[in-house]
Amino acid sequence: MLRVGLTGGLGSGKSTVAHMLHELGAEVIESDELGRALMEPGQEAFTAIVRAFGQEVLMPDGRLNRARLAEMAFKGGRVKELNAIIHPAVIEAQRRWMEQVFARDPAAVAVVVSALIFEVERDARESGEANGVFTELRKRIDRVVLVIAPDDAKIARYVDRTIPAGTNRDNAEADARSRLAHQIPDSEKAPRADYLLENTGDIDALRTQVRELWPRLKQESNLNVNPRSLK
Ligand code: ADP
Repeated sequence: MLRVGLTGGLGSGKSTVAHMLHELGAEVIESDELGRALMEPGQEAFTAIVRAFGQEVLMPDGRLNRARLAEMAFKGGRVKELNAIIHPAVIEAQRRWMEQVFARDPAAVAVVVSALIFEVERDARESGEANGVFTELRKRIDRVVLVIAPDDAKIARYVDRTIPAGTNRDNAEADARSRLAHQIPDSEKAPRADYLLENTGDIDALRTQVRELWPRLKQESNLNVNPRSLK
């Protein structure tokens, strides 16, 4: 088994890498997806968010208005407060998912995709969080794969992905910059990653790097299936 955290700033290309790894045989889950599921009515995180941010984050059908919530969090300086609700729930859901994956296949490479692997750890430490699972990411992740790209490329890719052609890009660009500003810069993350993918060329250049990465992850996973047998 190998627990891999695949991270990178918004627009860096991590979902693209995740897709490539999945095609090669990795089990993959997106933290955003887990987070969305945990914010459905009835879930603990949903209740905590409504308690903290009020009824105005709800849509008429009683579900969360995620755009409104993101706006309130980013513009109101309440990102950390929101993260303190969502991150622990997402990490617990990741742990449960990995358990299921490894029960099915002890040699699996389980990849968790998250923009905020390092930020979760930083925020937990800054808020005095005592639980080591949050403050020491190595307790929950064996290998960190970081996708890096210049900020301008990240923003352009993010905007291309989210805004229909011909529509005004200014708001999306400002939104992307504000989100990136809350993320730790690549230069600080890179020394802490185990594998670095430099997404500065085209998709094929990225795919070449992923194809080199995959057998290494797989090999590490195979070595990790039953460590006691090595004695
Ligand atoms: P992230 O998951 O990190 O936010 P994505 O993988 O979704 O980033 O990539 C953002 C957008 O940029 C996607 O539309 C993707 O197809 C595109 N993209 C990623 N890498 C490249 C690249 N090397 N060249 C051109 N487009 C890219």
